Amino acid sequence: MNPSTLLLVDLQNDFMPGGALAVSGANEVIPIANKLIDQFDLVVATQDWHPPDHGSFAASHEGHNVFDEVGLNGLPQTLWPTHCVENTGGALFAPTLNTAGIDRVFPKGTDASIDSYSGFYDNGKRASTGLGDWLREKGVTAITVLGVATDYCVKFTVLDALTEGFAVTLHVPGCRGVNLQEGDCERAIREMSGAGATLT
Ligand SMILES: [Zn+2]
Repeated sequence: MNPSTLLLVDLQNDFMPGGALAVSGANEVIPIANKLIDQFDLVVATQDWHPPDHGSFAASHEGHNVFDEVGLNGLPQTLWPTHCVENTGGALFAPTLNTAGIDRVFPKGTDASIDSYSGFYDNGKRASTGLGDWLREKGVTAITVLGVATDYCVKFTVLDALTEGFAVTLHVPGCRGVNLQEGDCERAIREMSGAGATLT
């Protein structure tokens, strides 16, 4: 019990350079992830997995543009380019990622009416992905997290993991962010650290 556990956040084609919602340098994370996959007992990955009409897509909101802020199902929502649509190439893991080394994948954002930055819950904490219970069943008490994007899905996954009682190490060199506003990534890292995450 208490296996060393690595959590890979959204290492998917649409977040890689050239993808629909490219995160600068996201491709540099893949070799880091592959190296770490071999060093952990348990490897879990989240996968952004949206229906084609997902409410986080600007295309789903007539008269709105990408990066506009709207209300969605009672929650503030940043509108994104259409990305990680279920069963499309953009939603697949980056081809060079060692997916054979991943023990379990948790899809998120599968409900069109609400977004899900965290790998544990949707943005309203209305539904769980099952990740927390699965980790507890495996006897996991501490996780190391890396992936994209630092200022969205990594941040909310880390904050929820801490709230769920897991000790969290953020693998900073294995994270890349969006930085819609300059400094967003640094602020996200400070917020995770302030909430109790260890930085490495
Ligand atoms: Zn998404």
